[in-house]
Parts: sequence; structure tokens; C-alpha cells
Amino acid sequence: MGMTDHEVVIAGGGPTGLMLGAELTLAGVDVVVLERRASQELAGSRAGGLHARTIEVLDQRGIAERFLSEGQVAQVAAFLPSTPLDISDFPTRHPYGLGLWQNHIERILAEWVLELGVPVQYGIEVIGFAQDDAGVDVALSGGRTLRAGYLVGCDGGRSRIRKGAGIGFPGWEATTSHLIAEVETAEEPELGMRRDASGIHGLGRVEYEIRDGEVVYADQGPVRVMLTEPHVGSTAEPTLGDLREALFAVYGTDFGVHSPIWISRFTDAARQASAYRVGRVLVAGDAAHVHSPVGGQGLNIGVQDAVNLGWKLAQVVRGTSPESLLDTYHAERHPVAARVLRNTLAQGVLNRTDERTGALRDVVAELLAMEEPRRRFGGMMSGLDVRYDLGEGHPLLGRRMPDLDLGTADGPLRVFTLLQRARPLLLSFGEPGAFDSAPWADRVQVVHARYEGTWELPIIGNVPAPAAVLVRPDGYAAWVGDRTSVGLVDALTTWFGAPRAS
Ligand SMILES: Cc1cc2nc3c(=O)[nH]c(=O)nc-3n(C[C@H](O)[C@H](O)[C@H](O)COP(=O)(O)OP(=O)(O)OC[C@H]3O[C@@H](n4cnc5c(N)ncnc54)[C@H](O)[C@@H]3O)c2cc1C
Repeated sequence: MGMTDHEVVIAGGGPTGLMLGAELTLAGVDVVVLERRASQELAGSRAGGLHARTIEVLDQRGIAERFLSEGQVAQVAAFLPSTPLDISDFPTRHPYGLGLWQNHIERILAEWVLELGVPVQYGIEVIGFAQDDAGVDVALSGGRTLRAGYLVGCDGGRSRIRKGAGIGFPGWEATTSHLIAEVETAEEPELGMRRDASGIHGLGRVEYEIRDGEVVYADQGPVRVMLTEPHVGSTAEPTLGDLREALFAVYGTDFGVHSPIWISRFTDAARQASAYRVGRVLVAGDAAHVHSPVGGQGLNIGVQDAVNLGWKLAQVVRGTSPESLLDTYHAERHPVAARVLRNTLAQGVLNRTDERTGALRDVVAELLAMEEPRRRFGGMMSGLDVRYDLGEGHPLLGRRMPDLDLGTADGPLRVFTLLQRARPLLLSFGEPGAFDSAPWADRVQVVHARYEGTWELPIIGNVPAPAAVLVRPDGYAAWVGDRTSVGLVDALTTWFGAPRAS
């Protein structure tokens, strides 16, 4: 290739861009993250936390504890706010979610990214680009141009990268609009949720704890306000005046709100990129999908997009895999977000505040309290049930590899520990040497392990113990062996490139 400044340029250093920067750096790719904000500082708190699969994904990189130690562990998976889906009996080391505001999530991610040596440049906006067969010219604010092998738009819902690549963003228009803000109040606010004919509203302190499953707000400090707006379609930036007016309309008082830290708006519009890649340009996170925050899923699937894409893009950049490997990114991740769009639309409808919808909500709440729906919806909302379609076979194929406690020649080890460097892993439980991946020795780590326990998958339950599993760097099973190694060479080639000539 000619004069390339970076193998990959990432536009946007939100949760998705940071995670992707880390994944590419772990895989040895020369990447830069360009973020138009002046620093990682986020004025408002936005997302409220992480679901179980995201915590697992962070655990696979050895950083889950950093998040857990700063947040509130709780049963956060829910399809209806009234009916938490308790996943405490799920077979995972993290059978819960984590309450932690997005500004903290980004700060912790950015600290890790810094440790890994990922260059993140703040105060730089990508303003345009042009791709050709060999790379992408990326135009930056300030007049500079960078030459990149690939450009990934992690630049949020209004993604300039998505638009510039001509990628369609079909979906549903907004039917409701909410004001969201963090403010100080002169009077004691009415904390909690309120439903009325105009919709759902809520006030809570930014600082809170969870005790015995209940949210306990701090006695003082900033208040987070969420109010259904009377009309959809306002485009002007919301002001403190708008917030006061909306509070009056719902509560008959504005609680003396002042000193806004952040005032914004969100809607239930739901849209998804029709293609996640056009040539050398890709999109991930909110750039690829937007939807209502109900269920708290956007940040989670963005981070997981990054973990799906990172190792694939690295292998293509390295030349170990053909560009077609990138097609599996769309094939695997588009359905995941499509399902999230669908479930947010359904939740949005169920949250309507007219009486007839109330009856429907009661019926659904009854269903969700039953054992099988609880498990299925808990698996869906937590992200633990994701299955990539890798064909027929053992139930583990295409699903997340459980974090088993293994016995190895180096002593006891957790599976997730073996994934920390984001390397492919062939785990063999049989005779050493029964599964040969020698021609991939430069790429795939092989670990012979003992494991005596059961193999239990979320929702599915116990499955037959495999004799070997090929685990991708994102933690999903690419091949599951019984006694023979049938299919192993194919799987190794498909996912990790052609064997090295000996
Ligand atoms: C009120 C609210 C509550 C939410 N609650 C939850 C929740 O509980 N759980 C959850 O999972 N999700 C939640 N979400 C969604 C979550 O906030 C988003 O899904 C998440 O931030 C997406 O991350 P991202 O990195 O893809 O995009 P963003 O966070 O939007 O980051 C994009 C970044 O790109 C930068 N950028 C944009 N354009 C350019 C450019 N041209 N050049 C350089 N940089 C650029 C931006 O400054 C920004 O930092 C919530 C959202 C809202 C609004």
C-alpha cells in the first residue's frame, strides 16, 4: 500500500469507538481514534448502565472489575419497568446488570484505552472522506487530511460517516419525545416515576444506591429529570424554560429548577443502517442503529459491535483473512440490532398510558412473571442469549463461550483469562494432540484443559460436554468438536485465515 498514515481511522470516541480502538490495538493494528469533543468529559450522564453480556465482554479483557467497583450491581434486565427479569440463576459469573452512568463508563474505558497505548485525539472532527480501492482519504477539521486503510464511523446516531458512505437508515419516525436533564432544584423534588395521560415522567437523583433491589436516592445533589413532551418534532435545542414549562404541566410546579448541567431530548425513532460496510468504510454503535433508550440497550450493543468487528478488521488489515470476513460483521450484528429495535418498539407501545394499553401491559406483566418467559426475555435483554448463525451443530456453536474454571498445566485458569489478549483459542479437553492446529500456531493459542463440571448455557440449560471448542477473540464458539476433529480445519480457515505453509 502507498502512503498510509494509519491502518484504521475511527471517527468518534464514545463507548463504541473507544472499545474498537482497544480491540484493534490488542490485535496489533495501527489505529487512531478521532473525537470531536475537547476531552472525554461528557456533560450529561446519558446511558444508565451495563447488561450482563457487556460485563462478560469486559471481563474477557480483564477490566470488568473496574466497572463493577464503581457501579451498583442489580437486576436491571426488564421488558416492562414494573417487572424486573431476575437473572440471578443464569449460568454466568455476572448474573446481573450494573447501574453506572455513561460518563463513568467512558472515563473507565478511556483509562484502559490510554494504558493500551491507543492514540485518541480530541478536538478533531472528521468532516468528509473519499475512498478508493486502496484506502480512504479522511478530511479533518483544521484542514488536515489523513490516509487510512479503513475508516470506521463510531460517530453516533447522526453519523456523518454513514451519510457520507450513502448508507440508508430506514426505520420508524418518532411517536413520542422526551426531555431529559440534570439540574439543581430549590425545592424538594417528587422522586420516582409518574404516569399520566400525557405519558411517563420521572425524577431521580443522579447519585443513588441499590439496597435490597430498591433504588435509594441520595439526600441531595443533582436531579435527573425525564418528561414526556406534549408534542413530537421540536428541533430547537431544549432550554431551562422548556423544562420549567414541562414540569409545571405535569407536576404543577417546577421544583425551583436551576443550574442545568445538561438538557437534551430523546425520541422513540428507530432506525438501522441498511449496510454496515461499504468498501473500506464501516459503521458501528449508534452510527449503525438508533432507538428509544427503553431497556438500556444502545451502549451495550455498540460495545458488542466493536468486539465483533475488531478482530475481523485486524485480520483483514494484516492480510491473514480476505475482505469477505468483514461481511460476517454485518451478517452477525445487523440481526442483533434489528431485534433490539423491535423490542424497543414493543416496549414503547406497552408503555403508552391510555387505559386499554394498561390492560395489555398487565397481561404482558403476568406473562413475564412466568418461568419460561422470564428466562427467555431475561436472556434477550441481558444479551446472554445471542447466537450467531454458524450453521447446525452443537448448541454451543455460535454462542458465547462460558467462563469455565479450568484445570491446566499452568494451574487453575478461567476461560475469560485466556481471552484477555483477544487471541483465538482452541480449548481441548481430550488427549493433548488430538486436535491439530499447528499450521495456525502463529495465530491460535491451544490450551489443554480439564473441566469436570456441567456445561450449562443461558436459557438452553445443560448441553453435552464438548471434547474441544474453538473460541473466537470475541468469545463466541466458532467450532465445537465431539470426539473427532471433523470441520476444525474448515473453521480455522474460515475464521483465522489460510494455514501457514510449512
Ligand atoms: C437518555 C438516554 C439514556 C440511555 N440509556 C442507555 C442505557 O441505559 N443503556 C444503554 O446501553 N444505552 C443507553 N443509551 C444509549 C447510549 O447512550 C448510546 O447508545 C451510546 O452512547 C452509543 O455509543 P456510540 O459510541 O456508538 O455513540 P456516541 O456515544 O454518540 O459517541 C459518538 C462520538 O462520536 C463523536 N463524533 C460525532 N461526530 C464526529 C465526527 N464527525 N468526528 C469526530 N467525532 C465525532 C461524538 O462527539 C461522540 O463522542 C441512552 C441514551 C440516552 C439518550
